[in-house]
Amino acid sequence: MKKAIVIGSGIGGLSAAVRLAAKGFDVKVFEAKEFLGGKLSQIEQDGYRFDAGPSVFTLPQIIDELIQYAGKNPKDYFDYEKLDESFRYFWVDGTRLTYYHDQAKLKQEIETKLNTSFEPVAKYQEKAALLFEKNYPLFLEKSLHKIGTYFSKEAIATLPHLHRFDLFKTMHEANVKHFEHPKLVQMFDRFATYNGSNPFMAPGVLNMISHLESRIGTYFPKGSMIGITNSVVKLAKDLGVEFIMNTKVDEIVVQNKQVKGVRIGQEKYDADVVVSNSDVYFTYNELLKNQGIKSKAAEQERSSSGIIFYLGIKKEFKELGLHNFFFSDNMEEEFDHIFNKKIVYDDPSIYINITSKYNKDDAPEGCENWFLMMNAPANDGSQDWDEQTEKAYRVMLDKVSKQLGTDVEQYIETKTFLNPPKIKERTNSYQGSIYGTSSNAKMSAFFRHSNYSKKIKGLYFSGGSVHPGGGIPLSVLSSKIMVENMREVRN
Ligand SMILES: Cc1cc2nc3c(=O)[nH]c(=O)nc-3n(C[C@H](O)[C@H](O)[C@H](O)COP(=O)(O)OP(=O)(O)OC[C@H]3O[C@@H](n4cnc5c(N)ncnc54)[C@H](O)[C@@H]3O)c2cc1C
Repeated sequence: MKKAIVIGSGIGGLSAAVRLAAKGFDVKVFEAKEFLGGKLSQIEQDGYRFDAGPSVFTLPQIIDELIQYAGKNPKDYFDYEKLDESFRYFWVDGTRLTYYHDQAKLKQEIETKLNTSFEPVAKYQEKAALLFEKNYPLFLEKSLHKIGTYFSKEAIATLPHLHRFDLFKTMHEANVKHFEHPKLVQMFDRFATYNGSNPFMAPGVLNMISHLESRIGTYFPKGSMIGITNSVVKLAKDLGVEFIMNTKVDEIVVQNKQVKGVRIGQEKYDADVVVSNSDVYFTYNELLKNQGIKSKAAEQERSSSGIIFYLGIKKEFKELGLHNFFFSDNMEEEFDHIFNKKIVYDDPSIYINITSKYNKDDAPEGCENWFLMMNAPANDGSQDWDEQTEKAYRVMLDKVSKQLGTDVEQYIETKTFLNPPKIKERTNSYQGSIYGTSSNAKMSAFFRHSNYSKKIKGLYFSGGSVHPGGGIPLSVLSSKIMVENMREVRN
């Protein structure tokens, strides 16, 4: 039986382990921490449970597909429900709007709350759908590092539509061209943050991200977001995958350009293939440092990070839903701050996620579990994070308190936080970035690291810091592309 070692149990590592076990490998997963899931993990404190990282769940069929790949029935492992609304939006001037999936309800919201026609929104959704449908099979399901991809039927099918891809505009420029209403521009610029990018720099084609929420929908997994990790871990265990916790891999062992296994302290573990789910920067700069090889892809600009407060709140706020977003009045200045690694912006956009709205077990009765987040720069070593985190806390509470018309602080009965250094410490993510490399440059998709090594046979990569990028769906897709390009696997 061929042996595979997976370094890290983030969702990209877990899904790689499942796929390899399904292909008949004897799989071991080494995880540095005492918990599984990496960013997709949880924090429990004083009777409250919080999802530590991801909270917006789209494309659940990618998890179903993983379960089916392993020859199992998705319903035996994983359940989720489609949400009626994706977000509740709040603006400083008091405007509030709920983004419903139902088109008739959304039309009414846009017309009554923004006093503008729905038609541009409907047209925008059509275009986002086209962008998504043409790009998904090419950019998200295939390796961009194989020449065959560019001659595939998917590539040929995109050619007649290239002129509609807004390749030479930023997301913001494309949105300003499309919408007259500034709040609609803001609403759709916001989607750049779904892969930690800047809408004033990222290419217009990324406006396809909004299609996920607008037309495909947002979902809530049974048992909250940690339910995803739990399901995939159970699947992996049922397939015989062995998990070794609290064990940091120190080196990927290579001989004659062929992977031989990993080293942990003085101990060596043999393997025919090694999959790194560790951040690609550390894969090169720590795990492969004895090989003396560098990767430009590993050094690309990092995505944004975040400052997140996990708050136990002794009150239920009826005006808030599962996902709530409070806009900054000047998003251009805000993003300029973030991507120039400056201090916390005074009027940040704020995101509040409350899973106890759906999963009552996540907070005591009559209480709510708030995930209160603002985007922040990745940690380049120049920022004073203690000071910044305290400032972020004040700024966020003030802004949300004003909007909700009550001093929120009086209801907080427990709190903890993550910031870029803590995200690094918790998940070994370079500079504490959330989504690996940013997508700010026009060609970013092509600069991400591939899912296999061109220099070392038997070495593969799966996770948010490599192709096709960050976020749960893409991290799972990275394991799919990886296995499809493995010479050790007969697909
Ligand atoms: C605050 C926050 C909010 C987010 N919101 C969303 C969202 O709403 N929707 C969404 O889809 N995505 C979201 N994301 C992004 C998403 O969480 C990530 O893109 C995805 O989970 C990354 O998974 P990964 O496979 O790259 O592994 P990671 O989660 O990065 O985990 C890597 C694992 O490898 C382990 N490891 C690293 N090095 C070693 C080593 N040498 N030896 C052993 N183990 C090692 C680490 O301990 C860790 O467990 C968010 C992330 C954060 C932090």
